[in-house]
Amino acid sequence: MQRRRLLQAGAACTVLPRGAWAQPLYAGPMFDAHLHYNDDAQQPHPPADVLARMARAGVRGALVNSRPNDGTLRLVAEAGPQWVPFVRLYRNRADYTGWFADDGIRRMVLAQLEAGSPAGPFRGLGEFHLYDSANADGPTAVALMKLARDRGLTVLAHVDDVAVDKLLGHAPGTSLIWAHTGIAGEPLARVRELLEKHPGLCGELSYRPGLTQDGRLSSDWRALLTRHADRFLIGSDTWITQRWQHYGDLFADYRQWLGQLPAEVAGRIAWGNAAQRFGLREASATTPAT
Ligand SMILES: [Zn+2]
Repeated sequence: MQRRRLLQAGAACTVLPRGAWAQPLYAGPMFDAHLHYNDDAQQPHPPADVLARMARAGVRGALVNSRPNDGTLRLVAEAGPQWVPFVRLYRNRADYTGWFADDGIRRMVLAQLEAGSPAGPFRGLGEFHLYDSANADGPTAVALMKLARDRGLTVLAHVDDVAVDKLLGHAPGTSLIWAHTGIAGEPLARVRELLEKHPGLCGELSYRPGLTQDGRLSSDWRALLTRHADRFLIGSDTWITQRWQHYGDLFADYRQWLGQLPAEVAGRIAWGNAAQRFGLREASATTPAT
């Protein structure tokens, strides 16, 4: 519920008609760096449906995780090599609020890493949530950060700025994708401070308040995205099944504000940063079907 309130507070998402601004839309490939394929989404949206929605949106790869992990295994078995599997830390909803001190979660993660996926080894851990930054010091949180660092895994974390600092303090240099680039609209100066302190930190931009207004990229965000063009990613955050119904609109929104950035910057945020991080091959730059 906490998560639901947080997301509703920052969930304004305006879809403007294409062409509402003078700038052309970004037309290159996209990587969805925050995709969930949870158990409740699988019946209404089997893998073929999900993959068709992604293809129509011009999404050529994704960071995939699910609650429980069987959804990830099912989707990556039918997707291409650009779909990157992550181990989710949750077997069920109850695990959201206690995983950081539950050694059973660490053992489950180890077993999943050992088993791998139909698409090869898991590449990361998460998404996980910390609603109180003090829990970043929980024994399982510390152990999993060190595990990620030691095995070259990326972490996808839905946490506040204090917890980012704590998590990366436990395992300096670890690759950490900060879901939503904050959960409370952390000031841009603080985001920048953390990016400059932690070289492995990258911000994912779904639900980020203040990024755009009426489809227009804010000038502060334009400056930050341009200055740190190699440190941001975009994602869908399909945390509830309804998000799949609006999947195309989410990426149409991204194409709109990405089109307001220099082409080099837009290409990095939409695809290049993920491709570099996960060793993906070139993706076609065709405009998606409409
Ligand atoms: Zn999420």
